[in-house]
Amino acid sequence: MQSELWRILGIDSRDGGKLVARLMRRGLLLREATTYKGRKTYILRYSDNTRAPINISVSLNPVIEVPCFTCRHISRCGIGGYYDPIRCPLLTRYLLLMNARRA
Ligand code: SF4
Repeated sequence: MQSELWRILGIDSRDGGKLVARLMRRGLLLREATTYKGRKTYILRYSDNTRAPINISVSLNPVIEVPCFTCRHISRCGIGGYYDPIRCPLLTRYLLLMNARRA
């Protein structure tokens, strides 16, 4: 709801109206009249122009190498416990390897 957005953003309806008008002119926002809590207001929606598909390529290779992701003790591992990341040889070896790769 437009009125809720003003409240969340901490702006008055005059400034909010200008902002919405600008976004509508750019085709980024749609406004539909409605009644909310007995008062006329508007629903603001992203226009289809803002929903263009985005291709993001993320490599998980660095993450997969972290030993904790495949460790059978991860649910019991914690600082001060029997399985402790501070003393873990697998994690230590991994971190040393990462450090050596950076050098
Ligand atoms: S720190 Fe060691 S024991 Fe703990 S989850 Fe990672 S690999 Fe497993």
